Amino acid sequence: MKMQLIYPTWPRLEKQTQFHLPPHGPVVFAATLPEYVEVDFIDENVQPLVYDPDIDIAGLSVMLTCQLPRAFEIADRYRGMGIPVLFGGIAVMLHSQEVERHADSVFLGEAEGRMGEVFSDFRQKKMKKVYDYMNIFPDISLVGTAKRDILKRDLYNYRGIQMLDLVHASRGCRFNCFPCCNGFLGGRQFRPRPVETVIKEMESIPNNRLFIVDNSLAHDKAWLIELFTAMKPLKKKWVSHPLMDDDQVLKLAAEAGCWYVYQAVFDTSAVIENRIKRLHDHGIGVEGTILLGTDDHDETYIKTLVDFLTQIKIDLAEFTILTPFPKSPIRKQYKEQKRILSNNWIDYTCDKVVFQPKNMTCEKLEELYNYAWDTFYSNGGYQTKMGELFFKVIKKEILDKTYRRYNPREKRSFKKTKPS
Ligand code: SF4
Repeated sequence: MKMQLIYPTWPRLEKQTQFHLPPHGPVVFAATLPEYVEVDFIDENVQPLVYDPDIDIAGLSVMLTCQLPRAFEIADRYRGMGIPVLFGGIAVMLHSQEVERHADSVFLGEAEGRMGEVFSDFRQKKMKKVYDYMNIFPDISLVGTAKRDILKRDLYNYRGIQMLDLVHASRGCRFNCFPCCNGFLGGRQFRPRPVETVIKEMESIPNNRLFIVDNSLAHDKAWLIELFTAMKPLKKKWVSHPLMDDDQVLKLAAEAGCWYVYQAVFDTSAVIENRIKRLHDHGIGVEGTILLGTDDHDETYIKTLVDFLTQIKIDLAEFTILTPFPKSPIRKQYKEQKRILSNNWIDYTCDKVVFQPKNMTCEKLEELYNYAWDTFYSNGGYQTKMGELFFKVIKKEILDKTYRRYNPREKRSFKKTKPS
């Protein structure tokens, strides 16, 4: 049985350097499929989609709300050709009713242990309209090594620099931050994978550079210690979301190859300043993630925050405009206050104002968003600062003899076809 698995394109943050990481959802999903399903994976962000009349089923893997309009176009076209379409992924869970209108079948939830049922139904021509496994989480030990051989690996490099491979070591998050949908998606219970299965997966990845995409590495100290201790001999270099702010954890993370972390910067407090300093003291770089437009933000606050980032010598900053995604606590509040201005999902890219800010006009918030990017990067653009971070990892790799120069002659052949 042949499935074309498609990861639709979406508009990027204009201010950010355009590079593409190999997606995680599709490779995790592909690992859950029965062996008789042959997958042809198309990441529309790096290659053209050619509609294939000979497939048995089209799969649409959708992570982001702003991917949905393109996903619907693709689905409608395939269904018009008489080819059934199955949808899955984070954005599908957030927008399930709307997705149903463009799908033959919608899978909601985590796929491990469930695809046998879905594809058996498909073979018997009795696939259900909806497979609803929301909040019924599979045993975490069923999460195996993602199927990365579906990726066309040579498409993921930026100017000769090999991009990072994505991997996850846990699911769920006990926090419930106001702009986040994770409580709805992955549940409020932290679910760590057994360390030995994570290590086995990391060992199988040919790339030395990883992005550990777990929601947060700040839940369980004992598990983190076990994980980082086991990772150390692999000599991988990795990036992650926030790390537990604990001396023992930070030291072990650095020894296990932590290269830089994403850290939310929401105020100019000494707590944030110390956290960044402690990461730097351990040789770990920091990319600040800064959400603009919350109810306590006004023009002065945002300008002070931008100055603060420069003062504390944060390595990189990613500014985004607060976006009330479906199922997030903030959307519920803004809906009640009638402050949602747009439900056009193509605008949910985090660089457009789709709600009414409390202390300024929409235009002012957009102006301040541009001000933040332009001011922070006035002494060297994003590419320059990113280049400095990459230089740091190359130095680390040279020191422990894991540096591997990108060799274009290793490229797989990729037959270019015209987009349909
Ligand atoms: S923002 Fe991060 S830490 Fe907060 S709830 Fe979402 S996943 Fe958890």
